[in-house]
Amino acid sequence: MSTGALPLASSPPLLDGDDPALFPKLTDRQLELLRPLGSTRRIEQGEVLFRDGDAAYDVMVLLEGQVIVVLADAHATRLLAVQRARDLMVEFNVFTGQRVGATGIVSEAGTALFIPPDSFRALVGRELEFGDFVFQMLARRRRAMERLTSGIRIVGSRFDHDTHRLLEFVARNRVLHNWLDVDDPRAEPSLRGLPKDALRSPIVFPGGGSYLVNPTNAQLAAAVGLRESELPAGKTFDLVVVGAGPGGLAASVYGASGGLSTATLDAVAVGGQAATSARIENYLGFPAGLSGADLAERARVQAAKFNAHIMVPRRAISLTEQDGFHAVAVDDGDTLLARSVILALGVQYRRLSIPRLADYEGLGVAYAPDTARQQLRSGDAAIVVGGANSAGQAALALSDEGRHVFLVVRADGLERGMASYLRERIARDARIEVLLAHEVRELAGDGHLERVTIENIHTGERRTLSAGAMIVLIGAMPRTDWLAGQIALDKEGYVLTGPTLGPNMREREPWNALGRDPFLLETSRPGVFAVGDVRSGSTKMVAPAVGEGGMAVRFAAEHLARLRRPGPPSA
Ligand SMILES: Cc1cc2nc3c(=O)[nH]c(=O)nc-3n(C[C@H](O)[C@H](O)[C@H](O)COP(=O)(O)OP(=O)(O)OC[C@H]3O[C@@H](n4cnc5c(N)ncnc54)[C@H](O)[C@@H]3O)c2cc1C
Repeated sequence: MSTGALPLASSPPLLDGDDPALFPKLTDRQLELLRPLGSTRRIEQGEVLFRDGDAAYDVMVLLEGQVIVVLADAHATRLLAVQRARDLMVEFNVFTGQRVGATGIVSEAGTALFIPPDSFRALVGRELEFGDFVFQMLARRRRAMERLTSGIRIVGSRFDHDTHRLLEFVARNRVLHNWLDVDDPRAEPSLRGLPKDALRSPIVFPGGGSYLVNPTNAQLAAAVGLRESELPAGKTFDLVVVGAGPGGLAASVYGASGGLSTATLDAVAVGGQAATSARIENYLGFPAGLSGADLAERARVQAAKFNAHIMVPRRAISLTEQDGFHAVAVDDGDTLLARSVILALGVQYRRLSIPRLADYEGLGVAYAPDTARQQLRSGDAAIVVGGANSAGQAALALSDEGRHVFLVVRADGLERGMASYLRERIARDARIEVLLAHEVRELAGDGHLERVTIENIHTGERRTLSAGAMIVLIGAMPRTDWLAGQIALDKEGYVLTGPTLGPNMREREPWNALGRDPFLLETSRPGVFAVGDVRSGSTKMVAPAVGEGGMAVRFAAEHLARLRRPGPPSA
């Protein structure tokens, strides 16, 4: 990119640099906090301070002068923002590790304070008020950025499963992205000069001029900087958390903040099922509700703030014992050794047993509103299948966007499965058509879902609905196959803990040798705990999962303390 002429300096920026919500000027007190952490130096006109695709950067405070921040791709170079004195130049990636998505060029010489990211993160963790200021500013900027078509570019066909896999992966991981259908003329400049073979698959342009042809989720994660570097060989952890939904994130935050060396892995993304919820309205302290994605993002930053190692996407595939440690094997070949483990595996969506379902998964059939949204064209109606809260929320969210929604429910009423506030809103919403006592029978469409046939379970009468997407929210089941034989599960595969393991546990091994019963959330294996939806008998909600995550850390710490001081049992 040419930096000399700065041709963009006069065009209006996409984000208003004078908007105090997005670019609040640092106060004298905030500057005083930041100054000792870094070094001040002169910056010259045309100097590039950070560049699209950079793996890391110093946090900067502009003291004098002006910096333009630009977004550049194969199509155009756009002016994102103009930064002036007392602006803090930092993005969420300082916490998440994602690569830089814009380029900052000095447009007027001046001076800037450069702060190493580690020192900045430590300050944010130390200074509550300043930390809150930073998170709120970053969340507002992030929302503003999501409205722009910026970030990594994905070019792929809407009829292609891999395109949808990649889109779901970036959406779940909140990677700013911009998708163009391969047939869209606007995709042409990006694709020019690429080998013909490559054009049959989705292509990702992660920035910095590089591209990836149909990458795996792990390759894409590495390219955008989501994936942490390999762990030091032989490193052991006090606590390994498997699953980074609300339960696992809570365990990570409480574990790491309580001084336990903590590693957390998730097979897909931070946030779990909760991150797919359009609006969580029953979480304490958020009277207006908050989106699941926001909750997940805040928790992720909080966990990173306390130095929990969050590793995404990495799937745990076995739990064994090795030299007195719990050994969690990961699908990339690594093994994490832990003194205690918290399983926060959640549940996975149930699928409908109807013909050709797999043909349309990712091509109209989805298991979360966000994913469905990417598969809908403007004007398409949507079908939501299910009668519980998650289905009600999804129907309302899609209707709010102006879509006609068919809510297909097998039961004869919504009373048993759905909260009254959702039922009332649905009843008032003219765009939502509730079809009680109906089941889905057939799917049809040319390369993408177009029609869904439903049947009244009492009369057998069939009706075919035209819709661009069908979101299936009919319950879930645990994902514990890989634990069978290692820890006790109930007959549906949920993990048994504490009292549900049975009476007189203290009389059995290994509890007899330990001289205690299992703790409340402890599994049949001492030092391994289970929290949230995966636990047998759990309340399938965010708040209980979070509470259990916190409680399990307390039990894990107690287990570790007892390991360190062998002696007469006291439980
Ligand atoms: C659309 C929707 C809306 C909802 N709305 C609400 C609401 O408004 N209020 C409310 O209280 N609850 C709501 N819920 C329920 C709530 O989201 C769950 O109860 C909560 O997320 C459970 O948290 P968890 O941590 O136990 O599991 P999950 O959120 O399911 O997270 C489990 C995580 O573990 C990971 N994982 C699984 N197996 C492995 C493995 N082997 N290796 C590595 N990682 C693994 C998964 O990828 C996942 O990210 C909603 C759920 C959905 C689907």
